[in-house]
Amino acid sequence: MPTFPAAPIPGQDRTAQWVRADRDRLIHPNLPSGRTDRTVIVEGRGCHVRDSRGRRYLDAAAVLGMMQVGHGREEIVSAATAQLGTLECFHLWESMSNDKAIELAVRLTDLAPAGLDRAFFTSGGAEGNEIALRMARFFHYRRQQPERTWILSRRTAYHGIAYGAGSVSGLPVYHEGFGPQLPHVHHLTAPDPYQNSAYDGEDVTEFCLRELRETIERIGPDRIAAMIGEPVMSVGGAVVPPPDYWPRVAELLRSHGILLIFDEVVTAYGRTGHWFAAEHFGVRPDLLVTAKGITSGYVPHGAVLVTEEVAAAVTGSTGFPIGFTYTGHPTACAVALANLDIIEREKLLDNATTTGGHLADRLATLTDLPVVGDVRQIGLMLGIELVADKESRAQLPTGTAPVAQALREDAGIILRGNPRSLLINPPLVMDRATADELADGLHTVLARVEPDGR
Ligand code: PLP
Repeated sequence: MPTFPAAPIPGQDRTAQWVRADRDRLIHPNLPSGRTDRTVIVEGRGCHVRDSRGRRYLDAAAVLGMMQVGHGREEIVSAATAQLGTLECFHLWESMSNDKAIELAVRLTDLAPAGLDRAFFTSGGAEGNEIALRMARFFHYRRQQPERTWILSRRTAYHGIAYGAGSVSGLPVYHEGFGPQLPHVHHLTAPDPYQNSAYDGEDVTEFCLRELRETIERIGPDRIAAMIGEPVMSVGGAVVPPPDYWPRVAELLRSHGILLIFDEVVTAYGRTGHWFAAEHFGVRPDLLVTAKGITSGYVPHGAVLVTEEVAAAVTGSTGFPIGFTYTGHPTACAVALANLDIIEREKLLDNATTTGGHLADRLATLTDLPVVGDVRQIGLMLGIELVADKESRAQLPTGTAPVAQALREDAGIILRGNPRSLLINPPLVMDRATADELADGLHTVLARVEPDGR
């Protein structure tokens, strides 16, 4: 793995200028206006990034859960450069096509769970979920069941913030103040084995299945198009459902002709130790949405993989009528192909399993601390649930943001959290020594956190 060049030469540090311009000119997602500090990242290598002042950080979030092959991979730069010099951009509308989009469609449908034989390309996760929601409704419309318009989702789900994807996302913050949401959406309880007080003492899967059955009956099975879910909730806290949850949900939906959409925007391409988390649960959805790790984030891209049955219905005799400008962008597809080559050649799925297991072993004793309620792991996807009180499992009054800030400032570890959990999704190239660097930093900083969140 290449190393960093030297830090900026004193006197040539432009940080103050950049921070001023950032505050004056940029709008950031989710940044309170009173907060004036900025960390300006200028370079990345492997699992680490460097800021404008020369400080090195461990990127334990793989940017936003997507940097599978690590920062600074020359092979990807070469693939992008070669493609930019040959055919930088073309589209897939009507009968136009391009070689890289075709090659990527073949590669992905060969890798995907059996039966997901067709690919539709997007530029990101929310776009993928928009397409999946539209395809689900259009599938039934084309099959003479236009009244099947309802979409089932789960509370605490995150599917992106386009209007459809945002509407099926499950937290009020995605909806409040943004006017009417997509109609005919119903949110169910998500399975969360740690926060099990939500299930009235019932088994988590039994509770969720009963609620799903009752909901299908109430809305009417012949009015429901699809259910969408992340196989493992990511933003919701790396919440791994009980093993029988997805197989039983899939069986119930299938018995009513309701499509299952897996949002694998975070979990696909090795994150859980499989190409797709669907394999872990032994479930084949009808539509599977991917993005992020498809290119390791080097350029924006995404793919929705669907069954022949879905493809046949939505294309029909007149074709699937919608697409994006960048659907099948050849440079993004070339980057994806080079990225998949690295994931395969370097056996990053195996590394996610072994390094993830090692990290989980190193972090298991965190639950001895008064503020750590739960440590969960699947592959290189981990969540650390912080609690003010172990009995009630209540979240820290401050949420996890101050802890994430302390990790960055005091231990040089970059990661994000939701109000309850710290989320750890490192690059899949992480080795044991880097996993130990991460575990040591987490132990040191979390040992100092008080139950009031300070
Ligand atoms: N779905 C899941 C599970 C995600 O975690 C995200 C983003 O984090 C999205 C969809 C949205 O993806 P994008 O931000 O590329 O639109």
